[in-house]
Amino acid sequence: MTTQLEHARQGTITKQMQIIARTEGLSESFILDHVAKGEIVIPCNPKRPGQKVTGIGTGLRTKVNASIGTSSDICDVNLEVAKAEAAQEEGADTLMELSAAGDLDNVRQTVLANTDLAVGNVPLYQAFKEAIRKYKNPAKLDPEYLFDLIEKQLDDGLSFMAIHCGINQYTIERLRKQGFRYGGLASKGGTYMVAWMDINKKENPLYEQFDRVCALMKKYDAVLSLGNGIRAGAIHDSHDRAQMAEMIINCELAEIGRNQGCQMMVEGPGHVPLDEIEGNIMLEKRMSGNAPYYVLGPIPCDTGAGYDHITAAIGAASSARFGADLICYITPAEHLALPDVNDVREGVRATRLAARIGDISKYPDRRENEKQAAMARRDMRWNDLEKYLLFPEIARKTREERAPAQQETCTMCGDFCAMKKGMEIFEKDITDKR
Ligand code: SF4
Repeated sequence: MTTQLEHARQGTITKQMQIIARTEGLSESFILDHVAKGEIVIPCNPKRPGQKVTGIGTGLRTKVNASIGTSSDICDVNLEVAKAEAAQEEGADTLMELSAAGDLDNVRQTVLANTDLAVGNVPLYQAFKEAIRKYKNPAKLDPEYLFDLIEKQLDDGLSFMAIHCGINQYTIERLRKQGFRYGGLASKGGTYMVAWMDINKKENPLYEQFDRVCALMKKYDAVLSLGNGIRAGAIHDSHDRAQMAEMIINCELAEIGRNQGCQMMVEGPGHVPLDEIEGNIMLEKRMSGNAPYYVLGPIPCDTGAGYDHITAAIGAASSARFGADLICYITPAEHLALPDVNDVREGVRATRLAARIGDISKYPDRRENEKQAAMARRDMRWNDLEKYLLFPEIARKTREERAPAQQETCTMCGDFCAMKKGMEIFEKDITDKR
């Protein structure tokens, strides 16, 4: 398998690079150059040739990931398919299938068959679940089984995987020496791997045999997303020594993987106060050589449960502004329950809005859509306005439900409409109406 990265290094513009250039409105040479540097990744396992092509990284629109998956309390494959379909309908760019209960092979394959999006997962979930089922003890996970499982999952058509390679004994030592944490550990895969290492007194096999992980990912041209197992689960833990130890190792591994021709992303950072987001992005970019950054949240406040899609959207807008490339959505159910279909819809919408807000500042020369929307609003061209909105159906429904007496206005101000009055005064002076 020649990966997208290797093709680019050979100067070959692939079909996928052409599609990305077209959809992003950029030149093919720009895409080629940044894929060759590892600054853009393209998750596109050839086992799923019909999947939607999306690029993640430098110069591209900030992308949105939606995560779905069963839990031991709510385990229904049809519900997960409905959530996958809802995520795609709402405009998610990628999907993560993170099931942890039920027939995991069947859930993964069924979801893959019901979405066009590039799909990723966390292989440690199934690995530890199988060890629990077989031995009643996750510490008995056999590393050989883990590597076989990664290959099997890739063979099903996954295009990216979050794999926790950056946790090693040095990372755990930092965790112990700093005296644990306010928010504990927030990553399922990461925590179970820490427990495995602690009980077996062994190094993380995904770190120790990192070249083997890369070889598997290369075989399917899947993107290796270096998992953030020690991410902060509370803003008071943000950038503690343990988190930074993992980040440094992940950034180092990103470079090693790239040198082997493997497409690489780095994940981070969890709960981070707003004022630390810029620094976090800068560190990841600087230390990894501009590897695409896949951010979880960031969640800038620990007290927003019930509205954490909004909490995270505020963090996401800031992270996108400073250079994050892919944002994992957070739903209103975050920290409370497994998301339902409506939560998925709300989560994708909030995150798409955050990504758009971030991109307006990340790419100041790409604000034409906002300008056109503003002028349509000013001119009270309501039908035109819909073309520029992120959520036109919702806007239309709201307006129709509370229709105004005068069609050019809305029921917010009615006959006291500032827009209408302004246009009466200044219409003849406006020269940029279109
Ligand atoms: S009625 Fe008020 S809110 Fe509605 S368009 Fe006019 S100024 Fe804007």
